[in-house]
Amino acid sequence: MANIIKLYNTSTRKVEVFKPIKPGFVEIYTCGPTVYNYAHIGNLRTYIFEDFLKRAFFYNCFKVKHVMNITDVGHLTSDADSGEDKMLKGAKREGKTVWEIAEFYAKAFKQDIERLNIFEPDIWCKATDHIKEMVQLIQRLEKNGHIYISDGNVYYDVSTFKNYGKLARLKLKKLKAGARIAVDEKKRNPQDFALWFTKSKFEEQEMKWDSPFGRGYPGWHVECSAMSIKYLGEHFDMHCGGIDHIPVHHTNEIAQSEGATGKKWVNYWLHGEFLLIDKGKMAKSGENFVTLQTLIDKGYDPLDYRYLCLTTHYRKQLHFSFEALDGAKNSYTNLKERVRDLKTNLEGDNGDAGGYEKGFLEAINDDLNMPEALALTWNLIKDQKVGNKLKYETLLKFDKVLGLKISELQTEIKVSEDIKKLIREREEARKNKDWKKSDQIRDEIKRKGFIIEDSAEGIKLKKL
Ligand code: AMP
Ligand code: ZN
Repeated sequence: MANIIKLYNTSTRKVEVFKPIKPGFVEIYTCGPTVYNYAHIGNLRTYIFEDFLKRAFFYNCFKVKHVMNITDVGHLTSDADSGEDKMLKGAKREGKTVWEIAEFYAKAFKQDIERLNIFEPDIWCKATDHIKEMVQLIQRLEKNGHIYISDGNVYYDVSTFKNYGKLARLKLKKLKAGARIAVDEKKRNPQDFALWFTKSKFEEQEMKWDSPFGRGYPGWHVECSAMSIKYLGEHFDMHCGGIDHIPVHHTNEIAQSEGATGKKWVNYWLHGEFLLIDKGKMAKSGENFVTLQTLIDKGYDPLDYRYLCLTTHYRKQLHFSFEALDGAKNSYTNLKERVRDLKTNLEGDNGDAGGYEKGFLEAINDDLNMPEALALTWNLIKDQKVGNKLKYETLLKFDKVLGLKISELQTEIKVSEDIKKLIREREEARKNKDWKKSDQIRDEIKRKGFIIEDSAEGIKLKKL
């Protein structure tokens, strides 16, 4: 019998038992990055949460089909139709074409997720490769009476879609024009949104395509409807993103997809809470913009950040600070140290790890309770009654969800020539009682990822 997996569905505001459309199989669409800049660690928190989700399904023996888009056209700095064009903004900033910007930051994003040990989606889809599908979707919406053309642009008339705003519990009548979205005279209702622009304030827009609605480019929301339907069909299991997507982006995606097909689109909507910094939202446009590379440059391992994300439930805000990251780094370093110790003596399958396995499965299946799963992992590590071999094998199973690369931990440390040279120089400095120099070299070795300890038996080198 299949395990019971419980997940919080934003659609119903309830924790529900997950029922897949096809037994043993789950189809997930996750909104991907807008590639006009590096992802910040807030964005990356959302992708880490989605990775835990996917890994939890694998742990429960599900097959997963995961699709993620790359937004390289149409996204304005506000999620509605106001603000600047994000891609143009990036291109102007760097004196490059939008195409070059898109290629560069898509590559950087893929590198970030690899460094965080996030599984790649089965299908990456780029918005600019799917203009045809978007135009076809707009034509379906036209046939169903959901669109109007105003001053050359094609808009979705939200008043024609009965359930508009249901996901976000929006009360349409109560929203006055301009209350949440800047008033735009071209629109009939303030929440109407552009499906296709032929005329806009971005005349210098390089990305334009011919269409039955005129030469132009798509609005942001239409790409996710068009691409998810192309790769996952008109009805699929799950759609995820950060909570900021609930009131506009996902609300509009539902109006488009269900408006076109006339039937229910997605069964489960999952949203990750925000990463906050200095009590504010981390944003690409804001000053508090921390990238994964910022953390690496400061000497952190990307997995220190992954560990930090494990410590807070995905539906709770995570307050980022370097003190908190240091705490995560220490705990992760300890965990690696304990596992390396285990690996030096992999004897003994005495004791019982069954209770831990049961608890771990219950935790991840209880709306992805990763903090609890991590706590259980530590309890197992500390349990003296469980033999090393059994303990290690169980940890390897848990790591299939945690993704902390436990299996890759080496007991024998391989060091490069430059580290060996630094060690020799430090020995020399110590012989000469030049403690200042010896400390400086120790710090440099640390920056390169190793801790050097002096003991009665000689020096000990540990990987950070
Ligand atoms: P974007 O590249 O702006 O489209 O955002 C990519 C993903 O990051 C989306 O799922 C957003 O909901 C999510 N996101 C944006 N800001 C944050 C944040 N501060 N914390 C967590 N997730 C975020
Ligand atoms: Zn989307």
